[in-house]
Amino acid sequence: MTNKLKYFIGNWKMFGDFSSLKIIKRINNFCLKFRKKNKNSKVILCVPNILINFFSSKLNSDVISIGAQNCSHNKNYGPFTGSVSASMLKKSGANYVILGHSENRFEGESNKLIMQKIENALEANLKVIFCIGETQKQKNKCQTFSVIGNQLKKSIKKSFDKNKIIIAYEPVWSIGSGKIPKKNELIKTFKFIKNLYKKLFKTKKYPKVLYGGSVNNKNITLFSKISEIDGFLIGGASQSSKKFIDIIKKYYK
Ligand code: PEP
Repeated sequence: MTNKLKYFIGNWKMFGDFSSLKIIKRINNFCLKFRKKNKNSKVILCVPNILINFFSSKLNSDVISIGAQNCSHNKNYGPFTGSVSASMLKKSGANYVILGHSENRFEGESNKLIMQKIENALEANLKVIFCIGETQKQKNKCQTFSVIGNQLKKSIKKSFDKNKIIIAYEPVWSIGSGKIPKKNELIKTFKFIKNLYKKLFKTKKYPKVLYGGSVNNKNITLFSKISEIDGFLIGGASQSSKKFIDIIKKYYK
């Protein structure tokens, strides 16, 4: 079993209501027991905004952190109908926020806009889970490294506090498709991201880099053999307490 801290982050996407408290309670109970034998895992659930305050106040957990899935590029309060700022998320109980998810990039989010969101989130004292990844078309054209390199360069400022940014490598073609990269591809890509990040931002330590895309309780065994992976961003499977818990258990088997 590895001694390095590993992240298991759920991205609930557009899922859940107040009755979903039972899902998160089951995960919390599991984590409370699990932490007695394993102190090296960190569980974060990124839920819809309407559930952040409800979950964090009902759970009051020291084993699960609550996160959001996006925030506005505008700060604090203002005339932006339907928008929620990073500081509002923080006040409602979130400690993390996912930014740059491909589902939001598809809606038109640019690298520049994502940079503004990261800045706002850090200012609001949220930790950032920053998603990068190539599409199938870009992969076919062997552009994976140039695409993810560009996403890193264009959305992360040198002045950002790097201790508060976690990278999630999510190949777009893998999200929700059941397809995953080959082991050797993953090792190469993770090394590329870590080395580039360290070089670009002159950090002492390598960044934490997670994998996201169709992670489930079967393929987790393969991922667990890749030491470069610091954890997982889990979409569909995190909406079920059983599937999410199984992933964590199998990872450490
Ligand atoms: C995601 O949306 O971040 C994700 C990884 O989804 P899935 O696990 O469902 O592929």
